[in-house]
Amino acid sequence: MIDYKLHIPGPVNVSDQTYKAMCTPVMGHRSADFVDLYQACQPNLQKLFQTTDPVFLSTSSAWGVMEGALRNLCNKKVLCCMCGAFSDKWLDVAHRSGLEADALQVEWGQHIEPEDLKSKLSSGEYDVLTLVHNETSCGMMNPLADIMDVLKEFPDVISVIDTVSSFSVVSIPKDLWGIDVILTGSQKALAMPPGLALFSVSERAFKRAEEVKGRGYYFDFLEFRSNHTKGMTPSTPVIPLIHALNHTLKTIFEEGLENRFLRHEKLNQMVHNWVFNHGFELLPQKEFSSKSLTCVRNNLDIDVAGFVKTLREEKKISIDGGYGKIKGKTFRISNMGNESEDSINYLLSQMDDVLSKFLPS
Ligand SMILES: *Cc1c(COP(=O)(O)O)cnc(C)c1O
Repeated sequence: MIDYKLHIPGPVNVSDQTYKAMCTPVMGHRSADFVDLYQACQPNLQKLFQTTDPVFLSTSSAWGVMEGALRNLCNKKVLCCMCGAFSDKWLDVAHRSGLEADALQVEWGQHIEPEDLKSKLSSGEYDVLTLVHNETSCGMMNPLADIMDVLKEFPDVISVIDTVSSFSVVSIPKDLWGIDVILTGSQKALAMPPGLALFSVSERAFKRAEEVKGRGYYFDFLEFRSNHTKGMTPSTPVIPLIHALNHTLKTIFEEGLENRFLRHEKLNQMVHNWVFNHGFELLPQKEFSSKSLTCVRNNLDIDVAGFVKTLREEKKISIDGGYGKIKGKTFRISNMGNESEDSINYLLSQMDDVLSKFLPS
């Protein structure tokens, strides 16, 4: 049996109780039992998303909804804010969906500057904006509140915000900040297995979708909305993950949202301390660093691949050796999900053990 501790930035460790919840027998997805399950999740989901809009469940990974959002919402042109692997990819996805799209590109690890966004949007060319809140490839968190302030000046631009790796780690008040589409996935901080995407859509975005042709079927927001009123999903959903979700939501509110945010912040700080104590640096500026993971700059020039491999083989711990073009130049350590001070202390002590072999003597 594979039994690694996962500290890669998703999927993360899944608790035994969550796995157990998934073993609840499946029911018909048009049965009253399913409607009960769906509707039991909804109030907690709305609380977690900080919205009065419906929260939808999509049987797909996050990218399904990311692509779907573009196809539901764009009549003119998409502006993609790009600052790392996930946000860069969105431009490619827009083009592959046959849409016109432009880049607002900054260097990987840098944040999107609200003023730059404002001048780009002032051209009036764009009707959809994509932004990754927490750029997982670089461990960088964009200043979302300030960015949403800029968007208030452009009511015709629908905002699509990927919060895949920040959702339930920091507070993201969807309605207060005026986010049109917010989306996340099950396998990051929610600490469930992969396969379920969660998203919420504003009234304004539904109005746009009604005017857009070629929305397709599987990710048609209007299909989600009409099924939602009956307590259902458009097609047969991944029912075991919805049982897991119902369980997870209860545990989140037992802990309390504020406590959950504080726990993530504290554990993230513990990892940062490890980084600085060893003479490493963060890839992003400290002010814009993620609270869910740490992207370490390999300024000590260690053999990252060897470090990661040894940690996996000798300690049964999995961290990430860097994404795409910054592989080997960085490495990433996740603290999201159900981690505790004990589990992070254990991780850091094991990394200490292994790192000593890789530092120059
Ligand atoms: C993990 C991740 C994704 C991709 O999610 P999938 O579930 O693989 O589709 C997208 N965006 C961000 C920021 C992520 O961290």
